[in-house]
Order: sequence, then C-alpha cells, then structure tokens
Amino acid sequence: MSGIVINGKELGQQLRENMKQEVEQLNEKNVTPHLTVILVGENPASLSYVRGKEKACAEVGMSSSLIQLSADTSEEELLNIIDEQNNDHAVHGILVQLPLPDQIREKRVIESIDPKKDVDGFHPINIGRMMTGEDAFLPCTPYGIVEMIKSKNITIEGKHAVVIGRSNIVGKPVGQLLLNENATVTYCHSRTENLKEYTLQADILIVALGQANVITADYVKEGAVVIDVGINRKENGKLTGDVDFEGVKEKAGYITPVPRGVGPMTITMLLKNTIKAAKGLKGIEG
Ligand code: NDP
Repeated sequence: MSGIVINGKELGQQLRENMKQEVEQLNEKNVTPHLTVILVGENPASLSYVRGKEKACAEVGMSSSLIQLSADTSEEELLNIIDEQNNDHAVHGILVQLPLPDQIREKRVIESIDPKKDVDGFHPINIGRMMTGEDAFLPCTPYGIVEMIKSKNITIEGKHAVVIGRSNIVGKPVGQLLLNENATVTYCHSRTENLKEYTLQADILIVALGQANVITADYVKEGAVVIDVGINRKENGKLTGDVDFEGVKEKAGYITPVPRGVGPMTITMLLKNTIKAAKGLKGIEG
C-alpha cells in the first residue's frame, strides 16, 4: 500500500486563499500588513528565496519592501537599519535573510529585531514564549510542519514523534511544537547511536538532517507519518529531500514530497505570521 502524499504546495495555496480575506478585513481598518525583508550580499539562493517571499506577499494583498545591502555592510549599519524598521509603524514584520556575511553576528541581529515584528520566530523572546505555550510567533518551518500534519486530521496527542536534527530553526522547535501538541518526543542527531532503533518506533518521523536520501524504508515503521524537511540539490540541479521518497512511500501512511512539501508551507507561515503581527501579538505591549 502506498502512503498518502501531503502536498504542501496545494495546502499552502488553500491557506493563502483564506489569508486574502484576512488581509481584506485589515484593509477595511486601513491596515495593510507589511513585511520588510533585509538581504545582505548577493547570495543567489538567498536572492531567490527573497523574491519568492515578495511574490507571496503580493499574492495575498500584503505589501513588502526589500532592503538590499552590499556584502561589506557592517554590523552597526545593519543594526541601525533594523532599528529604523522597528520604529516604523507601517512595518509589521521584519525578516533578515540568513546566512549573513562573517563580519555580522547573527545572534546580535536576531536579538535586535523587535519581538513584536519577529515574523521568523527566531528571537529568544518568541522561542521562550513558544516553550511556555504563550502566544508567540512560531518559527515558520516547524509551524508549517505541524499545520501539514493537522491538515490530514492525524492524531498527534499520545503519539511518538521522532525528530532527526536539532538545529535552532527546525529540529529543536518542531520537537517543542509537537510536545505542545502532547506528542512524546525523541530527538536524534549526528551523535545518536543506533538511529534506526529510534526511527523504527516513530509514529511521526520528522527528518531534518540535510543529506540527500539518507532515510530509506528500513528506517520507517509501517504506516508512519514521514515529514521530509531536507532540501538538497542533486548534480542535475533538481531538488531532493533527506528521505528516499519512492521507497519510503510504499511503507509510510503519509509522506511529504520534495519539492512541493515543507518548502511552500514555510513561506505560507511567514505570511500568516505577518498578518498576525499586523493584528498584534497577545501579551506583548506596545
Ligand atoms: P543543520 O545542518 O543546522 O542541522 C542538521 C541536523 O541534523 C543537526 O542537528 C545534525 O546533528 C543532524 N544530522 C546531520 N547528519 C545526521 C545523520 N547522519 N544522522 C542523524 N542526524 C544527523 O540543518 P537545518 O536544521 O538548518 O536544516 C535541515 C535540512 O532542512 C536542510 O536540508 C535544509 O536545507 C532544510 N531546510 C528546509 C527548510 C524548508 O523550508 N523546507 C527550511 C530550513 C531548512 P548535530 O547537531 O549533531 O550536528
């Protein structure tokens, strides 16, 4: 039996349709959600991500602006620009495209963004609020993953979720969100001994390790929900995930493809966070 494919592109489009209405309702109150994207340097992949984000904003009726800075921009210059955006009432969300050049400390930049405008959900205040279950901007990729699982009415509560990867932007927060949904969560990483021992127990397997097709069918329990976060570029230029899709599909209950999986959901959740920012985060004054 072949697993059901959770198509992130289609789900993202459905969610974006609903967002158009939310934006229209805000427009009636003379508010247009606005996202500022800051890009330092000319990394072609980053530029393409940034263009995708601008296009997605326009599609749902939101406005956006791109501040493009040269690769030799100093940390102080960048912090000043973020400060201006923090103080601009017409700006609801601020996203600094990562990675940043070496002369700029990522941590300082993330911490300089007003938590009320931190639509990437990387600021320690939002991470802390996510952990304690308060209203917060959730990091977009983990948020999108949970929405994908929920879209199929899959029960999370009581299930064993195994997360491969412990990065601050994907692995750790997705595990936390699944814990908030009452899953029992196990984290695996590069030092985990006997990885398969854990993955074979997973009702929900989140794979975010960043190496092409590492997770084959022998790592997967029959009927498991398999979410492939990986984005790897093959020699022929095509994208592939961390999961061997064709093999695992035959064993999984549900599976996400790459492309058209988690990637489009990440941008969708960025839009959702920016609309939320325009409405105001509960519990943070200002
Ligand atoms: P990182 O490189 O920051 O983290 C990778 C994690 O995987 C680390 O925790 C590492 O362990 C672990 N790991 C690496 N190799 C193995 C292995 N063989 N067995 C077990 N664990 C392993 O990556 P990110 O979390 O930033 O991204 C993961 C993947 O997701 C990448 O392919 C990235 O491109 C993709 N991605 C996709 C997004 C989307 O929108 N679809 C958004 C963000 C990322 P350790 O900590 O011990 O080093």
